[in-house]
Amino acid sequence: MATLALDPRLSTVTASFVNGKHSMLIDGQFVSAASGKTFPVYNPADGEVICEVPEAEAADADRAVRAARKAFDSGPWSKMTPSERSRMIWKLADLFEQHAEEFAELESLDNGKPVSVARVADVPLAVDLFRYMGGWSTKLLGNTIPLSAGLNFHAYTMREPIGVVAQIIPWNFPLLMAAWKLGPALATGCTVVLKLAEQTPLSGLRLAELIQEAGFPAGVVNILTGFGEGAGAPLAQHDLVDKVAFTGSTEVGKLIAKAATGNLKKVTLELGGKSPAIIFPDADMDVAIAGAASAVFFNQGQCCCAGSRLLAHDSVFDQVVEGVSNIAGRIRMGPGLDPATELGPLVSQEQFERVTGYIDSGTKQGAKIAAGGKRHTDRGYFVQPTVIKDVKPDMKVVEEEIFGPVVTAQSFSTDADLERLAAQANDTIYGLAASVWTRDISTAHKMARKIRAGTVWVNCHNVFDAALPFGGYKQSGWGREMGAEVLNNYTELKAVTIKL
Ligand code: NAP
Ligand code: MG
Repeated sequence: MATLALDPRLSTVTASFVNGKHSMLIDGQFVSAASGKTFPVYNPADGEVICEVPEAEAADADRAVRAARKAFDSGPWSKMTPSERSRMIWKLADLFEQHAEEFAELESLDNGKPVSVARVADVPLAVDLFRYMGGWSTKLLGNTIPLSAGLNFHAYTMREPIGVVAQIIPWNFPLLMAAWKLGPALATGCTVVLKLAEQTPLSGLRLAELIQEAGFPAGVVNILTGFGEGAGAPLAQHDLVDKVAFTGSTEVGKLIAKAATGNLKKVTLELGGKSPAIIFPDADMDVAIAGAASAVFFNQGQCCCAGSRLLAHDSVFDQVVEGVSNIAGRIRMGPGLDPATELGPLVSQEQFERVTGYIDSGTKQGAKIAAGGKRHTDRGYFVQPTVIKDVKPDMKVVEEEIFGPVVTAQSFSTDADLERLAAQANDTIYGLAASVWTRDISTAHKMARKIRAGTVWVNCHNVFDAALPFGGYKQSGWGREMGAEVLNNYTELKAVTIKL
């Protein structure tokens, strides 16, 4: 394949990986798509093609599922002890950590995010997730249950791996999403077919090489590159798949749930959000303003839990809007690979159009732009960090997930009690996350109870930890990722009753 001109800031090792031939991992082999088709991967900082990757279709998905089925039903993986599984996951984490810089560069090149952020967030969190989950392999316990049916019974429960898991992930945190999905599946002894997002396949393909190097038996992890309809849908429908785990839009989440009905495979969904950041007048204003800005501008706003609805008390509303707008105006935008960059481009042309379309719809419906609102430079998919004020609750910018660096600002009044404020915060089809900014401990705990969302942050936002469960109420999803809780979503519970 022709070597394309890549960003000169890339290390030689990363550039040589990107310029190499890209293959998918199926049944322990690196392979092309059965059709031989490939598709281009773009650099979001300039819109240029950086490489081609295989385009998996139904035949490839089927092959990968059969490999995962065989590995689960009769391969060496199922005969490994929990401790052996644990050590293999830790070995993967160690290899991954040794190549941390390479992964940070790949993530930045492919997704557009600042390499400085990938270095301190995406990569270390993904490594840590594998270590955390590796530790669980040896701790998947059941209970002994005293039966009232009679004293001459001995009954106990045990957790068993759910089987073959299809995993479909998005492009906003390509590596971290792969880790969130693979970690618990491997810890519990499942086998996996993972479909990477079409926009960001590179870090997952590099991870596939490390998975091979760590020594996972053939078929335990299969990694596909391809499109949602061509490769994702056949996985979600497949009768030999026991569970599908999806992260992405609520719209596609609903398609996944429908596709799963054929064999009633288990489904977990981590979907969209429209999370409020709620600022009380007693908050430390410097902290709250910087926090509210970071809540929405982090990762170019392409976070399912982005604090995209700013709710500030009317006595501090102007100060908050001005403060967040000033920060928006100062953020350094540029290509992710520039070490000085604080905000990179959006992931794709499609996402660029979506986000700028939302900004236009806001102004057409009468909202005012307090900061940003425009494209940045004429190359690449850059959108300025944007603050929108004078909004009404039924505007599209307030109701729908924008998934870009765009926040709407609304005030709440002094006479509103917490009940009314919570109703305003909960006035959304989503329920993924919220942040509350206050120095009053009672207000903080009361709001934490009243908010209908899977995560409530107090005086912080976007804090993640492998040990903390994450997921949504309402249309933000089914089930939880991470923490001990995710293990329940990758295991079946068996009750065994013995007559003594
Ligand atoms: P998406 O379409 O939901 O994509 C997520 C994943 O699902 C991708 O791997 C996608 O493949 C795959 N997919 C698409 N259609 C499918 C189908 N019918 N069956 C099985 N898999 C399918 O998200 P998007 O198009 O990338 O982004 C659109 C919007 O979704 C964003 O603007 C944002 O609002 C939301 N989103 C949310 C999250 C989140 O973390 N909750 C993440 C990303 C996007 P392709 O790679 O071919 O699309
Ligand atoms: Mg899509």
